[in-house]
Amino acid sequence: SLPRETPVTEDDIRQGLSTVFGTGVDLLELRYARRITNASRQVEQYRHGRVFLAGDAAHVHLPLGAQGMNTGMQDALNLGWKLAAAVHGWAPKDLLDTYHAERHPAGAAVLLNVRAQSLLMDWAGTRDPDVLATREVFTAMAQLPDVQRHLADLMSGMAIRYPMPGTETHQLVGRPAPDLDLGSARVHELLRSGRGILLDPADTFAGVAGPWSDRVDRVAQGADTDPMLIRPDGYVCWAGTTDLEPALDHWFGEPR
Ligand SMILES: Cc1cc2nc3c(=O)[nH]c(=O)nc-3n(C[C@H](O)[C@H](O)[C@H](O)COP(=O)(O)OP(=O)(O)OC[C@H]3O[C@@H](n4cnc5c(N)ncnc54)[C@H](O)[C@@H]3O)c2cc1C
Repeated sequence: SLPRETPVTEDDIRQGLSTVFGTGVDLLELRYARRITNASRQVEQYRHGRVFLAGDAAHVHLPLGAQGMNTGMQDALNLGWKLAAAVHGWAPKDLLDTYHAERHPAGAAVLLNVRAQSLLMDWAGTRDPDVLATREVFTAMAQLPDVQRHLADLMSGMAIRYPMPGTETHQLVGRPAPDLDLGSARVHELLRSGRGILLDPADTFAGVAGPWSDRVDRVAQGADTDPMLIRPDGYVCWAGTTDLEPALDHWFGEPR
C-alpha cells in the first residue's frame, strides 16, 4: 500500500474504476482526489481532565456506511448539555464522566461494524473466494426485514443503549425518546429548548419535580405513554413507576 500523501492520478482512478466495474468508464474531469485508509482507531479515554475528545479526534475508520460525521455529532450532542450544566454550576458529580461511559462503547460499535463492512467489500478487488462466499451469505440475509432493521439501527447509531445503572428496568431508559405528539408540540420540538423534559401524562409529579423547574420542563398533557424523564440530548433517563426523585437528583443535580 502507498503512503497517504502520494498524489492520486487520473490513471489511478481509471484503473480503480475498471477493476470495480470490469469495463471501461470515461473519466472526463478529476476535481478532487485523496487517499483514505482502512485504519480503525479509537482513543482509550474520551476525557482527560478538562480535555474532551469528540468526533474524528476520538475515533477514525474507513468512511464506509457514512457513519463518521453522524457519530461525531452524537458525541457532541451527548457532551454539550453536560458541559453547559457544569458551566452553569448545577452539574451533578460525575456527570461529565458519563460522556466517556456512554460514547466510548458507541464509537467502538461503529468501528466494529465498519470492520465487518470492510471485509465484505473486498475492496482490494482480490476476488478472494472466502470473501465472495461470505458476501453471498450476508447478501441473502440482508433481504430479511428484521436484518435490515438491525443494520439500519446499527448504522444510524440508534441501537445504542446508554448504561444508566439503577433505572434500566424500563425498556425506554437509556434510549432516544420517542417523538410523541403531545398535542401542542412534539417531543423533539420541545427538546430544542435545551432543557430536560418530564412527560407526566397523569399529572402526578408536580410536587416532586417542582424544585427542578428551572432545569426540567414538566409536560402534563398529551400522549398516552408511561411517564418519562428526558435529558436535553433526547435520551430517556427515567421512566415508569419507580421513584422519580433520585433520577432528577442524579441527572439534574441538587434542587434549588
Ligand atoms: C471520503 C470521505 C467520505 C465521508 N463520508 C461521510 C458521510 O457520508 N457521512 C458521514 O457521516 N461521515 C462521512 N465521512 C466522515 C466525516 O467526514 C468525518 O467523520 C467528520 O468530518 C469528522 O468531523 P470532525 O469535526 O470530528 O473532524 P474534522 O472534519 O477533521 O474537523 C477538524 C478541524 O480541525 C482543524 N484543525 C486540526 N488541527 C487544528 C489545530 N491545531 N488548530 C486549529 N484547527 C485545527 C482541521 O483543519 C479541521 O477543520 C467521510 C470521510 C471521508 C474521508
